[in-house]
Amino acid sequence: MTQPDPHTDPSRPFWQTKSLEELDADEWEALCDGCGHCCMVHLADEDTEEIVETDAACQLLDIPTVRCSDYAHRHRRVPDCQPLTPDRVRAAHWLPETCGYRRLAAGRPLPDWHPLLSEEREAVHAAGASVRYIAHPETDGTPWNVIEWWEEE
Ligand code: SF4
Repeated sequence: MTQPDPHTDPSRPFWQTKSLEELDADEWEALCDGCGHCCMVHLADEDTEEIVETDAACQLLDIPTVRCSDYAHRHRRVPDCQPLTPDRVRAAHWLPETCGYRRLAAGRPLPDWHPLLSEEREAVHAAGASVRYIAHPETDGTPWNVIEWWEEE
């Protein structure tokens, strides 16, 4: 008996069958787990060009909810805020390993706390995978510290 192709099997959820390029707008948005790591200030090492993440949050990030406070206008208000695209995701090694886009691009499963699996938007925070408890506003005068904990799973 022929086994169904896992990439076209309609019984499987979209994040197991589609590439980043094949996602529609709703699926693209749903793949974000809301961790907020891409909303932190990132710095590039001048010598190595390595990009590191700091605990300083973008001015538009509402830290308690880990939501952008002006999502519709974020690119106009914060010119450094670049929209994620499939090509940018593949090149963005500064995204956390848990990021849904990075996972799908690498053919890896989503973490079990991802809202598409847990159906719980708070699960990312409970899992300690978000910036909720480590971020501070970039303008509050607190020294910026480099964070890199997400590389270990
Ligand atoms: S790092 Fe990925 S999963 Fe986390 S908020 Fe940004 S796009 Fe969403």
